[in-house]
Amino acid sequence: MQNLLIKIRKFLFRDVKNESESKELAVLIRIMCILTAFYFLINSIYFAVNAIYFFAILSIPIISLYAGAFIETYENRTKIALNIFTYTTIASSIIFTVFTGWDKNYQWLLCIVCLVIFFSVDENSKYKSNHMEIVLISLVAVSIVSHLIGPQKKGTNLSNIFFSLVTAIYYGLAVAINSYYFSKKFNASEIKLHNYNQKLQQMASLDALTQLANRRSMNEYLSQVAFEKEKKGDVFCIAIADLDFFKKINDQYGHDAGDYILMETAKIFEQTMEGRGKVARWGGEEFLFCFSDLNLEQSVNILDEMRRVIETRKFLYKENEIRITITIGVEEYYHISGIEGTISSADKKLYEGKHSGRNRVVS
Ligand code: GH3
Ligand code: MG
Ligand code: MG
Repeated sequence: MQNLLIKIRKFLFRDVKNESESKELAVLIRIMCILTAFYFLINSIYFAVNAIYFFAILSIPIISLYAGAFIETYENRTKIALNIFTYTTIASSIIFTVFTGWDKNYQWLLCIVCLVIFFSVDENSKYKSNHMEIVLISLVAVSIVSHLIGPQKKGTNLSNIFFSLVTAIYYGLAVAINSYYFSKKFNASEIKLHNYNQKLQQMASLDALTQLANRRSMNEYLSQVAFEKEKKGDVFCIAIADLDFFKKINDQYGHDAGDYILMETAKIFEQTMEGRGKVARWGGEEFLFCFSDLNLEQSVNILDEMRRVIETRKFLYKENEIRITITIGVEEYYHISGIEGTISSADKKLYEGKHSGRNRVVS
């Protein structure tokens, strides 16, 4: 029994073969076809019991059309399935309301059509508003005509209670299923949008090559740190590092090798800064460090250790052993100079380092 249920479930929720079609819409049409066909089947029993044979027999082609729409969803023809479902429901709603009476509630099938059509994201708003118009005009028309003609024949009391119960269950289920699929789809798109925004935000704050923070996000970080430190009267340091003779690496081993060195040194920078602040790619082969809780001496010690690690590392790129050194200028933040002044001071020290032989930390 459980196996059978799993098989039915799998069959009902089977994905559409065509990627341009929506699986959710196909599944919704399948469920609505089964539900509505079942509704008409029970109605036909009601009509047969009350000797209203014309409507009992009319339910047969209607059920067949729903079966056709159901099958179409498995044949890459969701749009055709939607049209069959829509027009079968509109036509049967009009015919049944006009000839069996307003009190049988067939007119509200038109609203169910609206729900299903509005669920379909593939259809444009013109298609949707056109159908909205058809539904509204039909509702007004059947309201007038059905009241003019009046119900053909009334059923027995017991069958009327049964009929109302079936109607209530059908509409309750139809609205619940459509609402469920609407909310499922809405939540899914919300989550997708949220993730996409997060990804965009991340991309906007990261350097594409090294995956370090970029200049923009470092500037934000520096403003935040400076604001907090000034408030408390604490110190923090800013350093700029520049790879020595980097142009030669590009010239000798190629641009890709240069990129590789940038990525590898960026990893060392990131490991060094873990829990100590932030490092960003400031430009080409220049990197900016912010030690958010360290004074000048502490920052110099860490930077010098990092410089030594890079100096001794053999970077292997396509069987080439590449060596590189870095020169670093570091300055303690001084609120009178501000962020820009501190960076420019660190930059001056970097150039002092470049002119006095490179591969050093100047403070
Ligand atoms: P110095 O020791 O004085 O800093 O010498 P240098 O050769 O490192 O400095 P220079 O400013 O002359 O050259 C920097 C080079 O960095 C030039 C540029 O082509 C290269 N560069 C900048 N960005 C990238 C990048 O993203 N990838 C690669 N492969 N090279 C880059
Ligand atoms: Mg350089
Ligand atoms: Mg440079």
